[in-house]
Amino acid sequence: MAAAFLEGGCQCGAIRYTIEGAPLLTALCHCTMCRRANAAPAVAWAMFQAQQVSFARGAVASYASSPEARRGFCAACGTQISFTASYIPGLIDITIGSLDDPAEVAPSLHYWDSKRLPWFHTGDALPRYPEFPPVE
Ligand SMILES: [Zn+2]
Ligand SMILES: [Zn+2]
Repeated sequence: MAAAFLEGGCQCGAIRYTIEGAPLLTALCHCTMCRRANAAPAVAWAMFQAQQVSFARGAVASYASSPEARRGFCAACGTQISFTASYIPGLIDITIGSLDDPAEVAPSLHYWDSKRLPWFHTGDALPRYPEFPPVE
């Protein structure tokens, strides 16, 4: 996770972003909200300070998936890009899957493992938290 500069965007290219510096946290989330929003069994997230992330082209449309949280996506192609919430002020989660080189940024833990689908197994020894990980 030594990446100093990351780039990514949506499937159609309307949204492009750049990220300076390393993520504060990376994780695979198994929660039901991420699953539904991404239509995927689990979602890999990288968390940054909001000022690390710049939208070089386009702007995310956003959906309030709960009163505290907004999910940013491309209005043209539907790619899920970001997650922000009032309980994590100043922070933004970016979908690792929207990075140009997702292999560069590996998850370091699992959270909401209590909601993991019974058929979804990953062969890793990363820490697993039933809900959110403890705040450091
Ligand atoms: Zn798009
Ligand atoms: Zn989630």
